[in-house]
Formats: sequence, C-alpha cells, structure tokens
Amino acid sequence: MQQYREIKSRHQDAILFFRMGEFYEMFYDDAETASRTLGLTLTTRNNGGAADVPLAGVPVKAATEYVRRLVQQGFRVAICEQVEDQRLAKGIVRREVIETVTPGVAIADDLLEGARNNYVCAIASADGRYGVAAADVSTGELRLAAVDDDGLEPLLARLTPREFLVAAAPPRCSAMEGALLTEREAWEFDVELARDELARHFGVLTLDGLGIGPDDTTALGAAGALLRYLKELQPGGVSLSRPIVERVDGVLPLDEMTRRNLELVESLRSSQGSENAGTLIGVLDRTTTPMGARLLRQWLLAPLTSKSAIEARLDAVDAMAAAPIAREAVRGVLAGVRDLERLATKAALGRSTPRELSALGTSLGCLPSVRHGLTEMVEDGATRGVLTDIVGAWDDCTDVAADIARTLVDDAPIAVGDQATIAAGVDAELDDLRALRDGGRDSIARIQAEERERTGIQSLKVGFNRVFGYYIEVTKSNLHLIPPDYQRRQTITNGERFVTPTLQAHEERVLTASERIEQRERELFDALRARVGSQVARLHAVARALSAVDVLAALAEVAMREGYVRPRITTDYALRVTAGRHPVVERMMPRDKFVPNDVELTDDARVIVLTGPNMAGKSTILRQVGLIALMAHVGSFVPAAAAEIGILDRLFTRVGASDNLARGQSTFMVEMAETSAILNTATARSLVLLDEIGRGTSTYDGVSIAWAVTEYLHNKTGCKTVFATHYHELTQLADELVALRNYNVAVREVGDRILFAHRLEPGGADRSYGIEVGRLAGLPDVVLVRARELLRLLENEQLARSTARASDSPQLGLFVASSDPLVDRLAKIDVNALTPLQALTLLEELSRGARDRAVAD
Ligand code: ADP
Repeated sequence: MQQYREIKSRHQDAILFFRMGEFYEMFYDDAETASRTLGLTLTTRNNGGAADVPLAGVPVKAATEYVRRLVQQGFRVAICEQVEDQRLAKGIVRREVIETVTPGVAIADDLLEGARNNYVCAIASADGRYGVAAADVSTGELRLAAVDDDGLEPLLARLTPREFLVAAAPPRCSAMEGALLTEREAWEFDVELARDELARHFGVLTLDGLGIGPDDTTALGAAGALLRYLKELQPGGVSLSRPIVERVDGVLPLDEMTRRNLELVESLRSSQGSENAGTLIGVLDRTTTPMGARLLRQWLLAPLTSKSAIEARLDAVDAMAAAPIAREAVRGVLAGVRDLERLATKAALGRSTPRELSALGTSLGCLPSVRHGLTEMVEDGATRGVLTDIVGAWDDCTDVAADIARTLVDDAPIAVGDQATIAAGVDAELDDLRALRDGGRDSIARIQAEERERTGIQSLKVGFNRVFGYYIEVTKSNLHLIPPDYQRRQTITNGERFVTPTLQAHEERVLTASERIEQRERELFDALRARVGSQVARLHAVARALSAVDVLAALAEVAMREGYVRPRITTDYALRVTAGRHPVVERMMPRDKFVPNDVELTDDARVIVLTGPNMAGKSTILRQVGLIALMAHVGSFVPAAAAEIGILDRLFTRVGASDNLARGQSTFMVEMAETSAILNTATARSLVLLDEIGRGTSTYDGVSIAWAVTEYLHNKTGCKTVFATHYHELTQLADELVALRNYNVAVREVGDRILFAHRLEPGGADRSYGIEVGRLAGLPDVVLVRARELLRLLENEQLARSTARASDSPQLGLFVASSDPLVDRLAKIDVNALTPLQALTLLEELSRGARDRAVAD
C-alpha cells in the first residue's frame, strides 16, 4: 500500500489500474468510481492498517474493454505495471505507470475509430488571437494553427477534439462541449520553453526548418504545452511527425452549424442506422483503407480556397476517372492495405505485436503494385495534379518490407511465445536452439555415433522418456564395455540405461531451450521492430500518400458511378449550377427520379428568395447549392450537368427551428445568435444559405427580422444568398432590392390537392399551402375545413386593412397593417394650432382609442 500510495500521489487525476499478478486493482475512491461506472463488485481488504480499504479489480486479459468504457465517459486511466519479473524481484516488485490513457490520448485500437482521427488539442491565447496545437498520437499527426476569434470555432468544429488542454479561463466554444477539459498552468504555454522543447523533440537547431514562423508563436506555446503533456502520459516516448503548420486562409472555414446543417459527416437525424447514413461522407466514402477514410473526412471538413490547390486535386480525380481499369487495379491492391499510419506509429512506440508488424510488412508489400497502377495514369505527361506529385515522391519502402518479410514467419502470432515468431534461417543461435528443442534429432544422432565410436558398442542407442529424460541404452551382452563415466539409471529386460555428463548437459540445454528460444525471439523481434520504428517518418509519408490515393480513387469512383462532372473553378463572383442534384437525397430515391434544378447566383442576381409550400423541396435545393459548392472546394466532382464555382471565403448554412434544448437556450435565441454571427462575419465572397429564419417568434416579428436580414445581406454584405422561406410576403422584397430574384418550387393544384413537381421556377409563390400539407399529413377533415374558413377570414381582414393604408406606403403593404392608427394620428397633430380645450378633447379621444384597442387585442 505504501508503494500504491506513492504512485497514486503522482496520478491524482487518473484512475490508477494497479497491476497485481493477473489483475489490475483499484483502491479507495478509484475503486468506488470504477465499481459505479463499470458495475464491478466493490470489496474491501485489510492491509494490516486500522481500516478496511475499498477495492475493485479487473482481469488483465479483459482490461482494454474496461479502460475503453472509462475513457469513453471522460475519465483518465493510469496503467501501472509490474516492471520486473516477479520471480526475480527482491522484496516488493517494482511498479511504474507506463501509460495514462485519456479520451484524447489513446493508441490501442479498441479505443479508436478507424475512420476518424482522435485529437487532443491545446489552446493558447495572446492578444486576442489563439494558438492551437492538435495531435493524434495514434497517427503521429501534429497540427499547428493560429486563428483569430472568428476562426477558432470553425477550426475546432473541424477537428472535433476529444480533449482540450487549456490554461485557466479558456475560451468558450461549442466544440468543447462533451470533450474533456484538462487544465494546465499558464507557464506550460510559454513560447520560449516550447521552442526548446520542440527543437529537442524534432532534433533541429531552429524551428524555421519546420515551417514555424514568427506568426506562429502562440501556436508554438500551445504545442509546447501539448508535447509536455503527452510525454507525461506516455513516459515510454512520444512519436510525432513534424508539425503541419496550417495556413488558416487556405481553408474554407465551416462552423459547427454549417457542418451539421449540411450533414457533412453526421446526420441531423442521427442515431438511426449506420453513422454515415444520410450524410455527404456516406455518399463519398468509397475508400478502402481506414487512413483513406480519415483523410476524406479531413478533406470534407477543410475545403480549400486556393484555385491551384483545388485544381490539383481535380486533375488527379480526373485522371483516375479516365482510367477505370488502372483505378480498379489500384483500389483492389489498396483493399489489402491495413492501417499503415497507425501500425507505423505502434512500431515507433515499440508497441506493435508480431501480427501487427507482419500486417505492416504485408501492407508495404503492396506499394510497388500501387505505384505501378499510378504510373500508368500519369504516364502520358499531361498534368495530373497531386497524382503527379504523389508518384514523384513515391517510396516503395522495399527495404523495410523485405526486412519484415525475411525476419517474421508467415503467420506471425499475437505475441512472442507459444508459436514461432521469427522465421527459420534468420539467426543461427535461434536455429540451433530450435533444433535442440525439437527433439534435437541431429544432436542425438551425433551423440549416439560418438558413443558407439568411443565404446565400440554398435547396438548402443540414445533415447528419451518422460521420467528419466535422455539416456543411453546398452544391451546385457555389452555391459562389460561401458566406460566409467556411465551412471546407471534404470534396468530393463534385456539391458540397462545410463546417463553421462555430456548427455545431461545436452538435456539441460534442451529443457532450457524453449525458454531461451522465447527470449531470443523476443530480442530479434524487438530489434526488428526498432529497425522498422526508426523508419517511421518514411512510413508515415508513404501512408499519407496512400491515403491520398485512396481518397482520390474513391472520389473518381463515386463521380463515375453517380454521374458527377468536374466543376469549373474560377476566381470570379458567379456560382452557376446547371441541372444540379442533391448528392444524398438523390440516392434515397430510384435512379432518375430526382428532379435536377438550375441555380445561378451572379453579382446582379445574388440573392434568391425561395418560396413554396412545405415539402416542395426548398431545403433540398438550398442544401444542394451548398453541397455542390463545398464538394467543388474539396476537389471532388459534383452532381450536376455543369457547374461553375467562384471560390468562396466562407460558407454559412443556417436552418431554422433546429432545436437546441440540450444547450439550454431557446431555439429562437440560438437562431438569432447564429444569424448575427453570419451577419458579422460574411463578406461579399461568402455564400449564405438561410432556411426559414425568423420562425421561432410571432409572424410579424419573424417576417420583419427575415426582411431586415435579407436587406442587410443584399445591401451591406453583398454575398451570394439563398433564402428559403414559407413567408410568401418576402417576395415583395424584389420590388426594392435590385439584385434579388424570386424563385419558387412549383406545385400543381389538382382540385383541392397539390402535386409536388420539385421544379424551381422564377417568381414567388403566392401562398403557403400549409393546409394542404396538413391534409397530406392526415389532419382530420373537420380541422381542415375550419382552417380553410379561418384562412379566408384572416386573408380578407388583412386585405381590408392593407387597402385602407395603401396610400401611405405602397410597397410595404404587409407592415402597414401592423402600423398603429393612433400613432398616425399623433403624428398628424400640430400642437401649436390647438386650443387647450381641443387638446383635452383630443387627449380624451386618443386615450379612449387606446383603451378600445387594448380590449380588442
Ligand atoms: P421543403 O424544404 O420545401 O419543406 P424539402 O426540401 O424538405 O422540402 O423536400 C421534401 C421532400 O421532397 C424531400 O425529402 C425529398 O424526398 C423530396 N424532394 C425534394 N427535392 C426533390 C427533387 N428535386 N426531386 C425529387 N424529390 C425531391
């Protein structure tokens, strides 16, 4: 317990898994927490002290599952092992914490998802800017970025870290919800300390060579804190590739609501079916490796903003699309490639099992075939964008692959031990030991020959039995010939059995051979793993090349299967989509049932107000525009007959009425907060997609807000905007705003029913069709009849009121109805022309009017 307490004192914030033989034991509070969270039986143990100690344990063999569950719930788990052999230890076995697992820092496969990165992210702040360092220790990726206030949210929304490292008073950000916040002292984020730490870690004199410049100092501070933290959690060593310094202006920022509303990687109706169902990634992810799946996710969440970078990807997709046979061949080979990136990290950390190292080797063995397929695609010298770069920098890693193939047996086991790990012919000592163990047939034959020669007994035999071990058997008739060093062991019917010192030495060697084989295999395996691990930088480079190939091939595959076209990327303002489709919705219906639509947003027609009844397809068109624009920025082909995409600087998608009760804010409040974020950050180069904003309040409130927001975007921001609304009143805006166009999604009325054509047409809808939709949804007939009646009434009333006021403000007919006759009257009063008596009478009249109004309302 003294040892336990000493170790626990250094791991206060973690649950300590204390290794005792075949169990990890937890004591005190840890035991109570674990028994609560994992449903373990809580027992007590008296260790000689006065009080009983609460205790809970898990078997070592099943530990990963328990660790996974604890970590998933946001706990840290410190794994404390026995670090010397129990049999050799004098006194208490030495124990050390070899690793602390947290939600953001995990390497074991069971704790990770194949298709996404697992980031831990440190945030430093200085002068209103944030420095962000994010690491995925399982892939060795380290990213640095410096962002301002507006840039933080989109960056974190993209990385979705599981854990944050922050100093006191961290920035508040929705991406932090549900993640573990680990507080560190302010000095940890010190830039000078970080410089030393990073230079030492990457073995460089100055950080310039790593691409870290003077603007990145805040991010550097974050990286320092992060690295120090990782070293604490993994005292055995941390394997990180050289940092990727992100230039934030190279990425199209997507805030969380846009990511969610466009359903890029998670569905709004999630928790049904598979995770990717109903999302863009679900359509695009035809990658065959987990690293490819991770990279695709990264690409989707970080669209590019540089024309040349986008074209470089499009060129590659184009090349792959044009070479179906070579592409299929490459994809076929890739299907046999395992998670090279994570396997390489494990090798570098000295944590791979023989089977994993063997899988790494087999995967590397696929490289030449992939290169072969790629060369075919780039051969004719035309520009193939990133594909040309990939082929140019290709590394087959034949040496590493051959080393692994030569050293390991074909079917390498999970652990060194019972089965052979190291192949025959690799090591002479190991081969000898094995020969010895395997009955040592040769050695036996040799000893037998030697003894026959020495004694002259031609019938002498060397044999083995379980009770006596190795023996020399001499028949009765030859017993007089045995030398003095023969020791009798057993008498048998027609002779005697003896041992000799030579034979005993042999036996000794055979019996210890198994142990020595295991030891030798371990040495050889560790050496191999170290050799492979030392090549981690090359392996990671090639893993990344493979992931890119996987993603590009997947994009080409989808493009061909789904009939996508290459978008034309421009630096102009216009966004034109001919016969565009929604990539996800079209997949949910039979082929060719989806109705394609054209959308054009140009400088002189930059705002589209989209009206039409519920269910007509407004949201679909709105998101389709966003998705097509986004896919183009990612470097993917797009679902359209043709598309011309002017590069955007931001993409916003706000969908009304998406409740956020979980966050404890009213829907309307959230909606307004999000809308104001858009108005404050959008520029003329942005694309803003608004679906039904202003809905969460009364109609007049709502229409007024929607009206004012549209005016602002049209006049002040000048961005491309699509505004879908069922407030057909907003179509009147076209009279006022020159670059605003009305469109509606057509419906046909047949009798009192409506048919959805899903076709976009110029002009606004004149009514909402809400009642018809209610009928489709099964409202009882009486309710429908009554609703129609009421609607007629209300419409007549509004008509009457607005014609009465029409002369005051013709283009704002709607609002006149809501303006106040009393106010109008007050405005018309000329106070100077009133006598005191007239004033009193007027006052009396006005106040009566006000009282009547109050009663009427
Ligand atoms: P709204 O936003 O106008 O209420 P939605 O965009 O949600 O309508 O569309 C309602 C449904 O209509 C969709 O779920 C889809 O099944 C269908 N739909 C929408 N657009 C199309 C289209 N272009 N072609 C075929 N079906 C469509």
